[in-house]
Amino acid sequence: MLTLTFLGTGSAFGKRNFNSNALFEYWEHPWRGAVPPLPPQDTLLVDFGANGPQAFYKLKDKPGFEHLKPPGGANNYYPAIHKVFVTHQHADHIGGLEELALMNTFVYQDQKTGKPYKTELISTINILVNLWDHSLKGGLNTMQNRYALLQDYFFIRALSPGKPGKSHFDIGPYRYEIFATDHVQIERKYDWPSYGLYVKHTKLNRAVFYSGDTRFDYASYAKMMHEAELCFHDCQLFDQAETVHATLNEMRTLPEAIKQKTLLYHYGDNFDDPALQPAIKEFMGLAQPQQRYVLFEGK
Ligand SMILES: [Zn+2]
Ligand SMILES: [Zn+2]
Repeated sequence: MLTLTFLGTGSAFGKRNFNSNALFEYWEHPWRGAVPPLPPQDTLLVDFGANGPQAFYKLKDKPGFEHLKPPGGANNYYPAIHKVFVTHQHADHIGGLEELALMNTFVYQDQKTGKPYKTELISTINILVNLWDHSLKGGLNTMQNRYALLQDYFFIRALSPGKPGKSHFDIGPYRYEIFATDHVQIERKYDWPSYGLYVKHTKLNRAVFYSGDTRFDYASYAKMMHEAELCFHDCQLFDQAETVHATLNEMRTLPEAIKQKTLLYHYGDNFDDPALQPAIKEFMGLAQPQQRYVLFEGK
C-alpha cells in the first residue's frame, strides 16, 4: 500500500501552503481507516524545499504522522525519512536538505557508534554533483576539525536516465521511473536537468503520474497520463510569456478524461480567488497540503 502526503502544495514563492514537497509512505500490509499503523515500512520524500522543515514540523503533530516526531522530543525526526529524491535544484525543492543532513548527523547520530543517521539521497548523477557543488557544499563541507563530502551525510544513489535499468528505483512492489521534464531551458529542451516520476505497480497494471516542475508538455506526457489512474501536475494560476510552469489555461486544454483524474499542485497563494474556481473545477481539484492520499490500496 502506497500513500502520498504533500508537505506543501504551493508555488516557489507561495507562503500559505509551503513548497511542493511530497512524502510517499509504503506499508507492506494494507490498512483501512483514518489512522494507519506506524511507522510505515519505507518512506520517500520527493524534494525538501526552503520551508520544508516548517511544513514537516506542522505535519508531525497531525494524527497519523506521529512517526515524524522523535521519541520524547518535539522537533522534526528526520530518521523517519529513509529516502529523498531530488527532482531538480531550485530552492523550493532542495532548500531544506542542509537542515536534514545536519540534524541527522549531529542530533540523531547513532548513540552507540557515533555514526550519523544517513538518508538515501537519490537523483541523477548530474543533479547530485551540482547539488553538492552549487548548493549544499557551502554549508555542509566543514565539520569540526575536518572537511566533509556529500557521502558523509547521505547514502548516494545515482541514476543514469536512458541507461537500461538505471532510470528507476523501487519501494516494495512500486517502481519509480524518472522522466525528463521541460522546466527550464538554457539553449534547448532538457538541457537543464529536472525530472518527474511515474510510479508503477510492478505486478498490477496500475500507475500514478507526478509531474515535478514542468512547462505544459502534454505531448511528451500523454501516454503516462492516459495510463495513470491519478495524475499530480504542476500548475501556475496565471498566464506568462516564457513561463517555466504549466499554466492553468494551458492545463484546461487537456482531454476531459485526463482533467478528471488530475490534481493540480505548485499553485500560488491566490488559489481561492473566486474568479479562478470555474477553471479549477474542470479538474479533479487542487491537491491539498498535509492530507494523506491513498495511491495504491492493496499489496
Ligand atoms: Zn518548484
Ligand atoms: Zn523549479
